[in-house]
Amino acid sequence: MQYDNNNVFAKILRGEIPCKKVYEDNHVLSFYDVNPQKKIHVLVIPKGKYINLDDFNENASDEEIVALSKAISHIAKKLSISIKNGEGYRALANIGVNAGQEVPHLHFHLFGGEKIGKMVE
Ligand code: 5GP
Repeated sequence: MQYDNNNVFAKILRGEIPCKKVYEDNHVLSFYDVNPQKKIHVLVIPKGKYINLDDFNENASDEEIVALSKAISHIAKKLSISIKNGEGYRALANIGVNAGQEVPHLHFHLFGGEKIGKMVE
């Protein structure tokens, strides 16, 4: 499967679609989900062109992988949903059709600010 340069997150990364930014560094961008499912719902994406987590872990550099992982904890703390300064959160990545992945650019959802509920339906 080829990376689709016209997916919505690629457009956000190119600045063609606006987003409500939460965090950015050399490798990572985070912004609020346009259709929040919980009180706090943000997305965390790598800036590189990776379709899903498997693609990322196979093809991204160690620096990119570390940056994304660390950014998740940093953003949770920034939003006061971490276990250090909040009540905890859920980090979730949908991978492929069975998981219901809609946007073919790797993204982690961070849900918090309230009880998140059942893990799967
Ligand atoms: P998936 O189902 O692929 O794991 O999640 C895709 C997520 O992207 C959904 O939660 C959806 O609301 C979000 N989304 C789709 N288009 C946009 C957009 O243009 N801007 C933002 N901020 N989020 C989007």
